[in-house]
Amino acid sequence: MTNEIKNTLKRLSVETGLGMLEEGLTVGTWGNFSVRDPETGLVYITPSGMDYREMQIEDIVVMDSSLNIVDGFRVPSVEKVMHVSIYNARPDVSAVIHTHPLYSAVLGVNGMELPGISEDFVQIVGDKMICSEYALPGTVELARNVVKGLGSRNGVLLPNHGTIVVGKNMPTALTVCHVVEKTAQIFIMAKSIGVPNLISQEDIEIMQDYARNKYGQR
Ligand code: 13P
Ligand code: ZN
Repeated sequence: MTNEIKNTLKRLSVETGLGMLEEGLTVGTWGNFSVRDPETGLVYITPSGMDYREMQIEDIVVMDSSLNIVDGFRVPSVEKVMHVSIYNARPDVSAVIHTHPLYSAVLGVNGMELPGISEDFVQIVGDKMICSEYALPGTVELARNVVKGLGSRNGVLLPNHGTIVVGKNMPTALTVCHVVEKTAQIFIMAKSIGVPNLISQEDIEIMQDYARNKYGQR
């Protein structure tokens, strides 16, 4: 494998940050995200504590799977261990997004799970989303808890902190991010006026198989 650095992936990162901020998925300089280049295995991650509106492609930091910086002069996100730990545990994942959003964070504050209540959610995120165990931001313990809480699903709630979603690429991870926030909002609203019905495990599995093998243009 060569260590070719790709400006296209840096640009994708800068554009993703702006989009996330504009859509209210995160606030200020919080949250962070990364993409893994499937060709080189290198991880492109946002710099720590920088305004997304001022971020340029040269601010993106590139690391290998052992956290060695191979390109960039900025201090990488404090959650770099978490990002790399997820990639090392999940070969199917090439994009990780950590947000400080509204609705899914409400569930994390209450230590509640987000159950499988809608079709898009169970197809793209998993049967449910659980809360990882609490740990302070930027710690190795948080990275360990997140990998454990994520398991083979595509999202996990961080108690009193935010949300992590993953995908096979950045567009997919962004879709997961949108679906999680929408589903969390639906769940909170549904709970406020009644008792939400959950999708059965059997139907979840049918829909996941359908999404994997039949849905969309073939
Ligand atoms: P960074 O700005 O270092 O990425 O940290 C923000 C954050 O959300 C920590 O959890
Ligand atoms: Zn955070």
